[in-house]
Amino acid sequence: MDDFRTRLRELEGQGMLRSLRTIGGPQGPRVDLEGREVLLLCSNNYLGLANHPRLREASAEASLAYGTGSGASRLVSGTMELHTRLEKRIAAFKATEGALLFNSGYAANTGILQGLLGPGDVIFSDALNHASIIDGCRLSGARTVVYPHNDFAALDDLMRRAAPERQGRWLIVTDGVFSMDGDLAPLPQLVALKQRYDCLLMVDDAHGTGVLGENGRGSAEELGCLGEVDLHMGTLGKALGGFGAFLAAPQPVIDLLVNRSRSFIFSTSLPPGVLAAALAAFDLIEGEEGRRRRAQLKKLRHRFAERMSAAGLDLCGSATQIVPVLTREPQPTMKASEQLLAEGIFLQGIRPPTVPEGRCRLRATIMADHRDEELDQAAERIIATVAQNL
Ligand SMILES: *Cc1c(COP(=O)(O)O)cnc(C)c1O
Repeated sequence: MDDFRTRLRELEGQGMLRSLRTIGGPQGPRVDLEGREVLLLCSNNYLGLANHPRLREASAEASLAYGTGSGASRLVSGTMELHTRLEKRIAAFKATEGALLFNSGYAANTGILQGLLGPGDVIFSDALNHASIIDGCRLSGARTVVYPHNDFAALDDLMRRAAPERQGRWLIVTDGVFSMDGDLAPLPQLVALKQRYDCLLMVDDAHGTGVLGENGRGSAEELGCLGEVDLHMGTLGKALGGFGAFLAAPQPVIDLLVNRSRSFIFSTSLPPGVLAAALAAFDLIEGEEGRRRRAQLKKLRHRFAERMSAAGLDLCGSATQIVPVLTREPQPTMKASEQLLAEGIFLQGIRPPTVPEGRCRLRATIMADHRDEELDQAAERIIATVAQNL
């Protein structure tokens, strides 16, 4: 244990030690954080569905009707009616031939890339892609070419240079909404590249699903290229208020993953309550209430971000409900987040390895059920605290 203790002390000395904080009661715009009510500015429960009565009821009813567990992995005996129904629903939502559930976004990204690609193939991956994509690239054994963030001209160059000795499959993979910067991928330009080089385009829409686009279908709908993306990965644990993840894609991709994807094959399938909550979430998202919640989220986000950029803060190019404030170094970042927490504002200071060195930030996320006044107050306190610490 001494070796582990030494490593922990090293982390602490560098301002890099992380620890867990416990929420009492349900998730909402304000939560009980270890006995104290705070404004929650670091949840991905963007539409406030995680504690929505319809989802809770659906989950409880399914648990009563079907029980609490699926009892096995999907290929054994863990494919229940609800899995099939939800996969059909997701395929219709993304307008693809098929869809496949995964137990989390992390399991999806690792399992999709490992299942579809291998040595001899090439993955072109944005420099700021989520850690689960990076791990998926490693697991696949394919050559990974990292291109500068959102720089499609640089990607074009890399692809042109690699083209003469091309063997195997090529795939471009990007976050739709980047989780630490809150900016959007240039999907129309990436579609043009995937057509020019005849390869696949995969979009991880963990933060866009439910939130972006007229019908909440995500960043590809927002940017007018829903039909051009080959592989739509999305999660059920963020805006959809539940748990789990999916890939929507052409049927041969789905069928191959059922046979090859290790995170899909070697893990017990999602339980009934979670599946029913996701079905209820899709009902809400595709209906009037979803439209209303998306519009409200957009309005709140705009007001909050405008205030902070007017004060001269660098918001890292954010265009969505993820609003980071660049603070650069770990120590002042963590000091600012602790001070804000003492004032009842709960957001996370983000440090390497989650973001590159020198790019630490306070990352705020907005929810549709925040109130104008509480966000205004929070923005003022963030502005003052950052000014004091940098
Ligand atoms: C959260 C996230 C994931 C992981 O999803 P989980 O369901 O939480 O495992 C994957 N990709 C991105 C971009 C994410 O933000």
